[in-house]
Amino acid sequence: MKKSPKVAIVGFPNVGKSTLFNRLLKKKKSLVHSLPGMTRDQIAANCQVKDKEFVLIDTGGFFDFKNDPISSRVREKAWEASQNADLLLFVLDGKRDLLPAEEELYFEVKKLNKPVLIVINKVDSSSQEDALGDYFRLGSESVFPVSAEHKRNLDYLEEGIYGALPHRARSGQSEEALKIAIIGRINVGKSSIVNCLSGQEKLIVSEIPGTTRDSTDTLIRRNDRAFCLVDMAGIRRLSRTKDKREKASIIKAKKDINHADVLCLIMDSQRFPTRQDTAIAHLAEESGKPLLLALNKWDLVEKDEKTAAVFKAKVYERLDFVSYAPLLFISALTGQRVIKILDLADQIYANAQKRIPTHELNEFLTWVGENHPPISRKKVRIKIKYMVQKGVIPPTFHLFTHSRSSLAPSYRKFFVRLMQETFDFSGTPLRLILRRN
Ligand code: GDP
Repeated sequence: MKKSPKVAIVGFPNVGKSTLFNRLLKKKKSLVHSLPGMTRDQIAANCQVKDKEFVLIDTGGFFDFKNDPISSRVREKAWEASQNADLLLFVLDGKRDLLPAEEELYFEVKKLNKPVLIVINKVDSSSQEDALGDYFRLGSESVFPVSAEHKRNLDYLEEGIYGALPHRARSGQSEEALKIAIIGRINVGKSSIVNCLSGQEKLIVSEIPGTTRDSTDTLIRRNDRAFCLVDMAGIRRLSRTKDKREKASIIKAKKDINHADVLCLIMDSQRFPTRQDTAIAHLAEESGKPLLLALNKWDLVEKDEKTAAVFKAKVYERLDFVSYAPLLFISALTGQRVIKILDLADQIYANAQKRIPTHELNEFLTWVGENHPPISRKKVRIKIKYMVQKGVIPPTFHLFTHSRSSLAPSYRKFFVRLMQETFDFSGTPLRLILRRN
């Protein structure tokens, strides 16, 4: 079964969850009997708004609340469903006041860092709509006054659901956003870049639906592609002294790297590369993930026609171990070239997944053998008989030889660079493994 996002309807008894469930399903009803994490008293169905499919879950289900003094079980059920869902519809009753326990439950589920739409049901007229000020104190902009029974404002709610769901891929599978980690030491402008990116492109959901509890990722769209700017929780607590802040930014970078598909290392064009920049670049290289570099605050640099080349040389001189990573000159302040981070990330991620056919690799190997014969650590020539690509992200190659010694480090570097250029592996590290046979 295709993996669709889950939308859970949560709320207290009698607010109209089941009526809303049936209204949103319309006629295209197809019951799903069991889903991982679902309890017996939930019901779910495949549902669709325009081109987006999702599983709608009604948590009111078959449970008899009448004999159960509210609170604990209601809360337990809502909490359970919320944890497993991608989007929550928090339903309230517009015919009565907000209950303190409802408010408490709302703030509890908010802690899950998932998008929540507040649905005020039983709002049968626009005059009633005007008197709903109380509900806005829950602090969400996403408040939808509807009447499930009288089908009022349901299209408005569907628009809201549509907007909060991940975008559908062109191929028809559910689309995965490309996860980009914006990493770097403090004050290089990482937050400014995230703000700049979310201002320039359509924000699907801002700083909400973390894949885990302790992240505040930002999801944005550019053209037909979804991007997720990874932001794992982490450093505020540690940030009292400069030394601690620096250590903390490295710990944070490590976390973000783990959760990302592509890495973007930001440096400050006023001062680079520093010891921390180098340390973070090492973490990036070790991860094997595609990487791009960006020198921020380019607006502050006094420039002539040589400046970019001079800065570029300085970056790669110190960070020669990530020479595969392309470099952008950007300004989060003016927005100059910031958007290129997304396009370049897409491109280098594709490079990291490239597979080179064996015959092309061996043609390359023959040419190298004739023009730049491989040298071992002991400075003697060794023969590599053939090579094959074993994996991607990072592209990994097995080189077969009779020789017992390994490649000279300088030759290995040279060989990797030649492969980068020949097969355009820009942005991705490559791994070579020598196999004896
Ligand atoms: P972070 O710690 O890496 O998230 O850095 P911030 O985004 O908080 O930025 C640190 C400081 O640099 C702030 O005062 C920003 O206003 C400033 N800043 C960020 N980007 C730029 C830029 O492109 N140009 C200039 N002139 N200042 C910037």
